[in-house]
Amino acid sequence: MHLMDFVALAAELDASDELRSFRSEFAPIEEGLLYLDGNSLGIPPKASLVRAAEAAAEWQHHLVRGWSEWMHIPARIGGRIASLIGARAGEVVISDSTTVNLYKLVNAALDLRPDRNVIVTDDENFPSDLYVLQGIARTRGVQLEIVQIEPDADRVAAVLCRLGPDVALLTLSHVTFKSGWIYPMQAMTRATHEAGALVLWDLSHAVGAVPVELNKADADFAIGCTYKYLNGGPGAPAFLYVREDLITQCQSPINGWMGQRDPFRFGLKYDPNPDISRFMVGTPSILSIAAIEPGVEMVQRAGIDRIRAKSKRLTDLMVQLWEAELKDIGFALRSPREAENRGGHVSLGHPDALSIDLALINDAKLIPDFREPDNLRLGISPLTTSFADVVEASRRIRAVVKDGRAANYAGARPHVT
Ligand SMILES: *Cc1c(COP(=O)(O)O)cnc(C)c1O
Repeated sequence: MHLMDFVALAAELDASDELRSFRSEFAPIEEGLLYLDGNSLGIPPKASLVRAAEAAAEWQHHLVRGWSEWMHIPARIGGRIASLIGARAGEVVISDSTTVNLYKLVNAALDLRPDRNVIVTDDENFPSDLYVLQGIARTRGVQLEIVQIEPDADRVAAVLCRLGPDVALLTLSHVTFKSGWIYPMQAMTRATHEAGALVLWDLSHAVGAVPVELNKADADFAIGCTYKYLNGGPGAPAFLYVREDLITQCQSPINGWMGQRDPFRFGLKYDPNPDISRFMVGTPSILSIAAIEPGVEMVQRAGIDRIRAKSKRLTDLMVQLWEAELKDIGFALRSPREAENRGGHVSLGHPDALSIDLALINDAKLIPDFREPDNLRLGISPLTTSFADVVEASRRIRAVVKDGRAANYAGARPHVT
């Protein structure tokens, strides 16, 4: 297929896209800019900017009295997120960052398996997750096993074969941040339970992009971001999930007053709340949390099945474009070929991926991102990306390689990618 055929195909797909009207609900971005990094930081919904301003005005008018309402916000928005991840409302709360939530829930999980001393994860887990696990291994004296998996190997089998009577916890990203591979949550949770271990899923790259069924899978613990496909804003607080029956069986290792049974009694002895809020720590970030809700509401309204269907078509188109337009100039497909196994982004390997990334951002008005060692990552967020955008992105990528703009950045080393 030639580029013009792709342009025509994209026009057809855009014309029949049931979700296309959602684009107008997002705040306008710079003219001509193609944004393929919604999996790192989503574009602001117009309603979130309004909500953020309202929240600031509530602060101004209510002052400390605002807390009688604000106290309920983390659980209320947690309940909305629960509906996106197949959980019950009382199992999810907004709290802290994803990283901190991982620390809390891994410790809580290890307390439930005192006679086992191994945590298993894989080499595609997010580095912050791996660092937290390394820290916990050091401070608790448990062993961390990071399963290394060859690109073409059977990832599921490689992970599952490490389960055994010494394993307390398996923790994985449901959709991995680099390749976008999706682990089969239900089958792996079942296998983990059969081995007597608990499971914790990081949903950061899954929530808002793929259907998640925590209850159906009988998942024990989960955490995730709100600023990626949920468009909650830079540094928006994260969420955590604990299965209903486990909530009162375990505790946070950080005993903060927001996890306390009646924090405003200011009791001197820690007595954790009997509900999911026992995993909260300190005062919630009300201004940031306020901006999360409109993006969550939008995903609910669009429907995760329709979002996923569009996402598969978008990433399929990107894979076809890679084959027709980018393979011959040195790009390798680093994401699964089958849409079924792939989340919302496509990673392309290239020896000059970093300089290509910089040329795209600085000279071609396309924002993807670069992930070590040589991945150009294209986040194709379904509510903000059209099929025409995908074709145009591929055209710009090819152009910066062919016309030498990428070569100008050889050797550059930015601080943030
Ligand atoms: C983005 C991401 C995080 C980020 O965690 P923060 O604490 O919000 O910085 C963690 N885990 C995964 C899998 C991610 O994709």
